[in-house]
Amino acid sequence: MTLDVAWAQRWARESAAAIAAAKDELVELDRQIGDGDHGENLNRGFQAVVLKLDLIPDAPPLIGDVLKTVATTLMSSVGGASGPLYGTAFLRAAKVSGLAELDAHAVVALLEGALEGITARGKAQVGEKTMVDAWSPAVDAAVLAADAGASPEDVLVAAESAAAAGAEATIALVATKGRASYLGERSIGHKDPGAASSVILLQAAVRACGA
Ligand code: ADP
Ligand code: MG
Ligand code: MG
Repeated sequence: MTLDVAWAQRWARESAAAIAAAKDELVELDRQIGDGDHGENLNRGFQAVVLKLDLIPDAPPLIGDVLKTVATTLMSSVGGASGPLYGTAFLRAAKVSGLAELDAHAVVALLEGALEGITARGKAQVGEKTMVDAWSPAVDAAVLAADAGASPEDVLVAAESAAAAGAEATIALVATKGRASYLGERSIGHKDPGAASSVILLQAAVRACGA
């Protein structure tokens, strides 16, 4: 399976479909420890991404071009903390994806770019019960997989499964960033919505490989 521009376009569209399907679940998670809008915010953003992609008749030459469209659209259409966070994530990922095709190490660079974007924007570290707790283990797993000679697709699979474990582990954490931090200890026992949506986006990246 080649991770090319068509893959990037499928990733964006698979993300939109998966976020739409998980909208109520993400709203419910955010209702527990936030303001209950995370599913609505992301669904609005990714539906706008699909409309934007539909307006571009020909495939752009580079993967980064697709990711940049995703980034700018999310930034302008997602309300809430997650808009600028995911927007910056996709923007940084786009910057390191000025390529027509990704090998395993380029997939790692894309994921590292996304994580750097999120931390540059939100200043959260691992263990603060945010989307960083999904992306950081995802990057670690991706590095290990790529170094072990995994295919680009298997790097994504490794990243996705580490992100899923990281998101589950947010249940036990106290939130110290974002809206959930207002709850302090009462945030324990609930999964972070942004970590959950991050897993959904990485699952979409795997599905876009056509596996
Ligand atoms: P809002 O909190 O403004 O309503 P959303 O509900 O769309 O925005 O997004 C909430 C998610 O954003 C959280 O679950 C968390 O994962 C993420 N988040 C919030 N603040 C930060 C931050 N400083 N760094 C990383 N992620 C953050
Ligand atoms: Mg919210
Ligand atoms: Mg909000």
